[in-house]
Amino acid sequence: MLQVRALTKRYPDGTVALDDVDLDVSRGEAVVLLGANGSGKSTLLRCVTRLLEPTSGSVTFDGREVMHAEAAELRDIRRRVGVVFQHINLVDQVSVLSNVLHGQLGRDGRARQWFAPTATREARDRAMTCLQRVRVDAFAGRRADQLSGGQRQRVALARMLMQEPELVLADEPVAALDPRAGREVMDLLWRVVEEDGLTLLCTLHQLDLARNYGRRIVGLRDGRKVLDRTADELTERDTAALYDHDEPDDPDEPTEPVDREPSSRVEQRPDQPARVPDLAAVERERDL
Ligand code: ADP
Ligand code: MG
Repeated sequence: MLQVRALTKRYPDGTVALDDVDLDVSRGEAVVLLGANGSGKSTLLRCVTRLLEPTSGSVTFDGREVMHAEAAELRDIRRRVGVVFQHINLVDQVSVLSNVLHGQLGRDGRARQWFAPTATREARDRAMTCLQRVRVDAFAGRRADQLSGGQRQRVALARMLMQEPELVLADEPVAALDPRAGREVMDLLWRVVEEDGLTLLCTLHQLDLARNYGRRIVGLRDGRKVLDRTADELTERDTAALYDHDEPDDPDEPTEPVDREPSSRVEQRPDQPARVPDLAAVERERDL
């Protein structure tokens, strides 16, 4: 389903965040991408749908060459790829249900479908089903900013489900959560992915989580793929190779890369429904 070949990303300041990475992910497979902070995980995920433009290499999604896709085709590819980010990006001022309806952004162009008061019954029912699957349906009418971190990330999972993606890219989906909320989110993510036969590429920096959830673990270090094993085969030497850095991880290091290359400014970021603030304002009046 996903083929990454010789993918390299050099940021404008010269940092080589990805260095000649190859990766194949089959349909229905769930892969953990494991690596220390700064190893290139977020950069890799973002290059898959060209939220970041790679410097060289190729990505093929379902037989389609992403690097050469025109705008319309790229939109279609992005519609098929659901994203879940470390920094939980809901639209705070609107209801949970509306946030889930935003999952249709790339599928249904009618703005009224993105908000609970104006969406069709069918869309709202579907959004409620998505919320039920991740057990936050009880909060459907609440403003998103009134939820805990774990609940918010579950809403983000529901929004991802609403999109009906084929591939899910999850970038450290539980890094901002306490361990218990994190486990809940991981359990739910893995469950819905399996139930729907989705393909998952999930980055993590914690070895224990990777072992618990990843049947297949791909390791990145300094932008290079250094490991591709099943969790059972993982040796201490493998894991040491991922983490024995000269310096400790810098917690202030940027974890969400921001591309500063003007050439790769992207017109559509499906992970950011907040780009419709005007409509959010409309809803504020009607819904709340
Ligand atoms: P991870 O997600 O594994 O923590 P990243 O993909 O965020 O790693 O970063 C990989 C490397 O690229 C790091 O050295 C990081 O500092 C660097 N980096 C990330 N974003 C940028 C940027 N916009 N400009 C320059 N360097 C960046
Ligand atoms: Mg990251």
